[in-house]
Amino acid sequence: MICLKGMKRVVIKVGTSTLTYETGKTNLKRMRELVRTICDFSNFGLEIALVTSGAIGVGVGRLGLAEKPQDTPSRQAAACIGQCELMFMYDKFFQEYGSTVGQLLITKSDIEDKERRENLINTFKKIFEFGAIPIINENDSVAVEEIVYGDNDNLSAHVARLIGADLLIILTDTDGLFDKNPHIDSDAVLIPVVDKIDEHIFEIAGGTESSCGTGGMLTKIQAAKLAGEGKIPTVIMNGENPEEMYKLLSGRQVGTLFTV
Ligand code: GLU
Repeated sequence: MICLKGMKRVVIKVGTSTLTYETGKTNLKRMRELVRTICDFSNFGLEIALVTSGAIGVGVGRLGLAEKPQDTPSRQAAACIGQCELMFMYDKFFQEYGSTVGQLLITKSDIEDKERRENLINTFKKIFEFGAIPIINENDSVAVEEIVYGDNDNLSAHVARLIGADLLIILTDTDGLFDKNPHIDSDAVLIPVVDKIDEHIFEIAGGTESSCGTGGMLTKIQAAKLAGEGKIPTVIMNGENPEEMYKLLSGRQVGTLFTV
């Protein structure tokens, strides 16, 4: 299983459904717990990169819209508004626990372009050297069509590979990957370990959608596959109690581990 020993760099991805209430307003209690846990890991000596969603969701809440807009420009505008709020809250909480953060807004083309990729790697390197914590989201205001990741799950796997992480943790609103959709089938059973991501795994992940975020389970499996191809294990686990990550990093079974 996973053990803190020898582990240096961890990417933690948190989704909209974990960070916000159904009203679209920020779940402050959870955000604070997440930040406190990350700061403690950082104090322990781990280098953490946080990939966060929630810009559109928080923007929708801030604007008092009844629901997430359907058209792209409105979503992009909501993301601009929500991103400010999101970073304001992160900055406030991280400062409270003695940590410094930096914001990186990334698109697919930034990672694919050789020069921009190099620039990103250098920036990450320095942020870690400065002892700060990078907070990453997709650059939603410029990300459309061919340059869009569209979901931060895949983005988190790219970031993990970019910075040579030892582990990717995806926090979501279910306990991990189940053999059936747990929102529909009450007898669904959690799969603790996946050694090979094949068609069957994609099939059972297929039907699970999150109400607030973009991804659902499918994009999380894609992310785990992508991370695995870079020899990085992934854990998909519930973000309801961020402190559960202590258990994970001390070697106990939490969520679903995708081995490499
Ligand atoms: N970048 C989007 C946001 O911050 C989230 C995409 C996703 O849900 O994964 O709202």
